[in-house]
Amino acid sequence: MYPRLVIDRQKIKENTALLAEKAARMHIDLYTVSKVYCGIPAIVQASIDGGAKAVADSRLENFEKMGAINCDKVLLRLPMQSEVDRVIALCDISLNSEIETIKMLNQAAGKMSKKHRVILMIDLGDLREGILKSDVDETVKAIMGMEHIVLEGIGVNLTCYGGVIPGPENLGELASIAEKIEREYGIALNVVSGGNSSSLSLIDNGKMPTKINNLRLGEAIVLGRETAYGNTIIGAHEDAFVLEAEIIELKMKDSMPTGEIGVDAFGNKPNFVDKGKMLRAIAAIGRQDINPEGLTPLDERIEIIGASSDHMIMDLTKTGSSYQVGQIVQFRLDYGAMLKACTSEYIHKIII
Ligand SMILES: *Cc1c(COP(=O)(O)O)cnc(C)c1O
Repeated sequence: MYPRLVIDRQKIKENTALLAEKAARMHIDLYTVSKVYCGIPAIVQASIDGGAKAVADSRLENFEKMGAINCDKVLLRLPMQSEVDRVIALCDISLNSEIETIKMLNQAAGKMSKKHRVILMIDLGDLREGILKSDVDETVKAIMGMEHIVLEGIGVNLTCYGGVIPGPENLGELASIAEKIEREYGIALNVVSGGNSSSLSLIDNGKMPTKINNLRLGEAIVLGRETAYGNTIIGAHEDAFVLEAEIIELKMKDSMPTGEIGVDAFGNKPNFVDKGKMLRAIAAIGRQDINPEGLTPLDERIEIIGASSDHMIMDLTKTGSSYQVGQIVQFRLDYGAMLKACTSEYIHKIII
């Protein structure tokens, strides 16, 4: 059945192993981030088998599917106060920045006679989640006083929202905050988490502060790409996920529409370049499932022209007579297209 996303477990395992070995040389361990593929348990398991220490996701629904996976479950998105009981039931560790929420986690953990581990997030300039540096002392003190909460460590998130790139300055700051907490409270933090796939280049260029001992990697494992500069990771598979769509129409047609041009299905006024007649294919997939800008055809002779909700139009002129109606076209996906493809219920997920 098409469209479908073909997911190769062996490639996920190998990507994880490549990155886990690279990180281990700097005494860094990895959380494998499964949110982009909605926590599909077989993929999580492949990544754990490849050497990830734990699985991290932002949605509790995804953890509900992972009961059989034997590793720590880490909630990446700050817990909603309305879900604290489920956080305690489903997760071992959560990332946090609100003391009132942590108090509620403490109560919920108490009720279930559990200990819950917390990674305190610190905002070092990206302006997504995290407490201010000036609030670290007070917050740590409050957490230390909670009976059912363990301070597992501290962490930072960069690049996701503000586009701030990790470097020796901001991660150095995280490292010194960790050292200060350890000195003042006479404790050892298990985790000093230096960010996501955008932090990988610091391992390669030797600028990762030694105190950082954890990264949370999604895109790097899934797409084989670091995200500070968008470079591909040497030796990693970029095609662990391949999208396949079926051609439902294939005809020589004009490249310019005929008639008065109004707006398209999304209210935009389209622009066209007259390339004369072209071999145009329609694939049965659309904006409801992907964004066409995020797809790259594996056959380099194919060019994506655009898409409406359920139809994607491609220029197959350069392919000659290679394709027919009923045949399949394959694509690599960027992060945005992956997100949509994984959440679209119309795209079948095939795990090989
Ligand atoms: C999504 C997310 C990650 C993983 O990001 P990638 O760029 O996919 O590696 C890490 N940490 C947090 C808090 C996240 O929300």
